[in-house]
Parts: sequence; structure tokens; C-alpha cells
Amino acid sequence: MKPTKNDQSEWAACQPGEVDQLVNRMRSTSRRQQVRELAIITTASLLFVAAGLTWYGVGSRSNSEFGGMVCAEVMEVARQYVLNDLTAEQTKQVDAHLAHCKDCATKIENMRQNEGPSIPEEVLREKPTFDNPLADQRPLEPFEIALAASY
Ligand SMILES: [Zn+2]
Repeated sequence: MKPTKNDQSEWAACQPGEVDQLVNRMRSTSRRQQVRELAIITTASLLFVAAGLTWYGVGSRSNSEFGGMVCAEVMEVARQYVLNDLTAEQTKQVDAHLAHCKDCATKIENMRQNEGPSIPEEVLREKPTFDNPLADQRPLEPFEIALAASY
């Protein structure tokens, strides 16, 4: 059956702008979907980043508070700590911090190795550190020297 003029006019009877509306509706639907997908992706990314930052913060943020001290405070007393020049309370706090803060523990360790206190030989001889006689048969570690100096 050949399309008649009538058929064409039925097609033509489509309201002007109707197709546009349909297209627009489809476009806006797919745009809404895109927006939703984008929102999901964005949220997921943000969560991921937040989780990463949290992890990073716990792991190495230089202001982490452990043992009631933040890293800056630990670093302020680090030298005295290495030299065993802190009060028992302060030492306990620093110990607690170092137990949880790898960052500071590493710095303190480096400090011990690099800036080992220079204790006069006679002081070391006069003040043996350990009751265990075996302990005297090996070279003193820097922290043991520091320990000796504090007695
Ligand atoms: Zn720290």
C-alpha cells in the first residue's frame, strides 16, 4: 500500500516541536543519568580520598597525637629524651608516642645514632649501667651511654 497523502498528513500531524520535546526529554533523562553516575563516581572518589587522607593522617601526619603529645612536642624534647634528660612522666609520654608514631621513632633513632651524646670515658667507667656482667662485654649502644649518663 502506497503512502497516501493522508498518511503523510498524519505524520505531518505531529505537533511542531513534539519530536524536539521527545528528544529533549530523552536527552535530559540521559543527562540526569550522567549526573547521577558522575555523583556516584565523585562520591566514591571523595570517600576514597578521605579514606586515604585518614590513613595518611594516622600514619604520618606530623601532628598526630599519641601518648598525649603531638609530634612537634616530641621533637621539642627529642634531644633531652635521647639524653635521658626528661622527667619520668615526660619519658613515659614520649615512649607512648613513639610506640604509635613511626615517624618520630625513626627521627629519634636517627638522633641517637647521629648525635649520640659524648660522655666522658671516666663517667662511663664510674657509672656502670647494667647489673648483668654480660652487658659489659659488648660495646655500649648510644642509648646505653645516654642511660649511663643519667645515673
Ligand atoms: Zn610523632
